[in-house]
Amino acid sequence: MLRNHFETEHNLFRDAFRSFLNKEVVPHQEEWEEAGVVDRSVWRKAGEKGFLLPWAEEEYGGTALKDFRYEQIMCEELAAINEPGFMIPLHSALCGPYIAEYGNAEQKARWLPGIIRGESILAVAMTEPSAGSDLAGMRTTAVDKGDHFVLNGSKVFISNGLLADLVIVAAKTDPANKHAMGLFVVERGMEGFERGRNLKKLGMKSQDTAELFFNNVKVPKENLLGDAKGGFFYLMNMLAQERLTNACGAVAGAEAALNATVDYVKERKAFDRPVAHFQNTRFKLAEMRTQIDVAQVFTDRCVMDHNQKKLTPEVAAEAKLFTTELLCKVVDEGVQLHGGWGYMWEYPICKMYANARIQRIFAGTSEIMKEIISRGMKL
Ligand SMILES: Cc1cc2nc3c(=O)[nH]c(=O)nc-3n(C[C@H](O)[C@H](O)[C@H](O)COP(=O)(O)OP(=O)(O)OC[C@H]3O[C@@H](n4cnc5c(N)ncnc54)[C@H](O)[C@@H]3O)c2cc1C
Repeated sequence: MLRNHFETEHNLFRDAFRSFLNKEVVPHQEEWEEAGVVDRSVWRKAGEKGFLLPWAEEEYGGTALKDFRYEQIMCEELAAINEPGFMIPLHSALCGPYIAEYGNAEQKARWLPGIIRGESILAVAMTEPSAGSDLAGMRTTAVDKGDHFVLNGSKVFISNGLLADLVIVAAKTDPANKHAMGLFVVERGMEGFERGRNLKKLGMKSQDTAELFFNNVKVPKENLLGDAKGGFFYLMNMLAQERLTNACGAVAGAEAALNATVDYVKERKAFDRPVAHFQNTRFKLAEMRTQIDVAQVFTDRCVMDHNQKKLTPEVAAEAKLFTTELLCKVVDEGVQLHGGWGYMWEYPICKMYANARIQRIFAGTSEIMKEIISRGMKL
């Protein structure tokens, strides 16, 4: 289906980003998958080309492209090549905005240029071993000691956990109020800040997902973002944008899985005819085609609403819920139509299947999305 919300400048940006990926990412994907992490140098290369935080002000080195369609294009192109480890959307559309939105002038001047150049890689650390969906249940604390805070606790499942130079850590700041938390920028090398192992996962093999430990880490007051008790609100506020990036990537991932499956069933023969000729195959693919087109229209509309600051948390949750559930359905049907070859790692559909599964879990599970949507319905 023809999409009509991109202009010439977006198409040119897509071409430039696609050639960057073909040159700097695609040739290294297997090597990064083996290593369990992408090479740091690709971040700097992306920074040099202006692909990191393109929305940031020019005074920090950004290009002031305040249009979410550029983020959407990057999510789509990364999904199209099935690269889960080089998480530009996490760096640019999730973590960077915390600093731009809640950081003061000094913090922005200190951190944004390095972040935009790809020299300082970002992560956000909310989840803990005993608290994921229920963020207010976190146990990491930050105690005010006058000119600094002392951070104690641990985080788990942190994307970019090994590569990150600046980690935005959520920590409780008032034992009497479970929603009082601050966002602290913990820097590589701070005493007491340690990283655990690179966690072994079902998919997303090229992405470093790690545990982080904070043992009496002295965080200067200058590294607190915004209000020491406002972090919970800041997190909730930003999650809508994060969920929109998930939706953009999920629809593009479903499209890529459908294309890989269509190519395969046209080639593969069973009972003297291409698998594509069985009615079951055609009907399954037709269903997927229809559902992806519908999801795409909805997602594109969400992107345009977000540009006008009209995207509500409930609708962002609908977008994430629908598109990630669809993605998982499409990759599952795709594997089925590949038969045993779909279970083999060298086939793209196999990796797509493994990479997709987390989409219904991170950035808020499908169940939490339904909670948000139903709360909006005043149920
Ligand atoms: C690869 C990967 C990368 C990640 N990256 C990051 C990151 O960079 N930063 C970060 O902070 N976190 C990250 N996460 C964590 C992720 O966001 C959490 O795993 C997710 O929010 C779920 O939390 P949990 O794992 O504690 O599950 P739980 O909260 O324990 O949920 C378990 C089950 O209970 C259900 N459930 C929970 N509450 C309710 C409810 N109220 N109603 C109905 N059902 C409910 C859930 O839907 C789920 O099915 C990552 C996770 C993974 C696996």
